[in-house]
Amino acid sequence: MIAVWFRADLRTTDNPALTRAYELSEQLKLPIVAVYISSSSQWERHGLGHARVDFECRSVAALSSRLSSLNIPLKWVDVPLYADVPARLLAWCVDHGITHLLANRQYEWNEVERDRSCHRLLRNNKIAIEWFHDQCLVAPDLLKTQDGGFYTVFTPYKKKLIKHLIDQPIGVLSALAPIKIHSNICADPMPERFGAYVSTPHLHDDWPAGEQAALSRLLDFCSDDVAHYNGLRDFPSKNATSRLAAYLAVGAISARQCWLASVRAEGGQTMHDGVDMWQNELIWRDFYRHVMVGYPRISRNQPFQTKTQHIQWRNDRSQFKAWCEGQTGFPIVDAAMRCLNATGWMHNRLRMIVAMFLVKDLLIDWRWGEHYFASQLIDFDLASNNGGWQWSASTGTDAVPYFRIFNPVLQSRKFDPEGHFIRQWVPELRHCPAAHIHQPLPLDAPSYASPIVNHAQAREFTLAAFKAIQSHN
Ligand SMILES: Cc1cc2nc3c(=O)[nH]c(=O)nc-3n(C[C@H](O)[C@H](O)[C@H](O)COP(=O)(O)OP(=O)(O)OC[C@H]3O[C@@H](n4cnc5c(N)ncnc54)[C@H](O)[C@@H]3O)c2cc1C
Repeated sequence: MIAVWFRADLRTTDNPALTRAYELSEQLKLPIVAVYISSSSQWERHGLGHARVDFECRSVAALSSRLSSLNIPLKWVDVPLYADVPARLLAWCVDHGITHLLANRQYEWNEVERDRSCHRLLRNNKIAIEWFHDQCLVAPDLLKTQDGGFYTVFTPYKKKLIKHLIDQPIGVLSALAPIKIHSNICADPMPERFGAYVSTPHLHDDWPAGEQAALSRLLDFCSDDVAHYNGLRDFPSKNATSRLAAYLAVGAISARQCWLASVRAEGGQTMHDGVDMWQNELIWRDFYRHVMVGYPRISRNQPFQTKTQHIQWRNDRSQFKAWCEGQTGFPIVDAAMRCLNATGWMHNRLRMIVAMFLVKDLLIDWRWGEHYFASQLIDFDLASNNGGWQWSASTGTDAVPYFRIFNPVLQSRKFDPEGHFIRQWVPELRHCPAAHIHQPLPLDAPSYASPIVNHAQAREFTLAAFKAIQSHN
């Protein structure tokens, strides 16, 4: 029998491992069975939160019913820690008479280590195993600099990727019909939750799981909103982005499907600009995976720029708590953090503002923020989260220069000019006049927190802390 091991690719369409399983099934006249392994204790170690794991759990259930319609049963195996996966997977393969195992690659350090061990063990036991690149527009280890190294700057990487796509245009795999050769195995009932993780029912309406939901979100976005993306994408109150990151993170949709749908969006110059800009974001997603593959230390809690490990962080715990809870006295920061805590999602502009505020105004280690985001975001993805944090903290590849420090009040005036977003999430400021909403006076809202830091002073302090490490290697 042929097995497909589903991981960060929870869909049946445009899935290289599943498509290859169909070819083999036809060739060898063997049925296909699917397997999903949950590792909740490992995810806890990685800091994943309830919103992300609940979304994963619902996505697996949606996958199971899609697979059933293709006559492929999905089996669920619970192996709390990755270290135990190889032996359990081998035992499962032996029990089910598996001769071939197929899977799409993951690129994070622990996942790569787990997969290497599985590969060795299965091969030693005469089970054929094949891996496929699936997560990116272009395989993350394919494009190299002239010296044969990995890129560390976005723009040349983007140019190379676009040139590559001209030579080898993106395609998606054909839709699959129900498989002809059935097995007598039944699908497992899917769990309602994984390990100690709890369900997050308040998020279910906004984030319906599964590839159908992802596809209709993509088509809606590309039929209309993408035309306004260029002009509106930076304004949190406009709701002008696709909100597809959660689906991309679990693989309910592929980056290739997103790219092609945007290419097919019809329209004039405005549409063209919107599509261009949106594709640019998909390339950032690819770029951060390319960096993670080339420089695995970034998925091991290390900064990309090694000298930045010498920064003397202040790491004030009470200020960190105020940041997490949206009680900093900076309305745009507080609105963003309260939105994250309530909905599991935050707009990209706000992610940059709150990240820069944590690192450059509070001088708190970016890893604290990275970890907190992992615990809250429904779309948590190690490469993009790490990339976003290291960009904001000026510790990463192609990061913002350390002396560029956002002024949270100016950012607020620029990207939430009327204060609509702030009013939505900070009820203490609901009646604050627009002229003061970005920097309220005590009389405007007596119940609202006072600023926990003086931005101008903090800026000088941070510049000094970064200057102090510039001579390190
Ligand atoms: C501090 C920080 C942390 C972040 N953490 C994550 C994370 O955990 N998971 C995650 O998917 N993205 C993360 N991002 C990137 C970005 O904020 C989100 O991808 C985006 O806000 C998701 O909303 P959307 O799906 O509506 O994006 P859209 O604007 O519609 O963009 C389309 C897709 O492109 C990708 N994308 C967009 N912007 C970026 C970017 N800057 N970097 C990489 N990919 C991008 C996403 O997959 C997104 O779904 C982070 C950014 C920052 C600054």
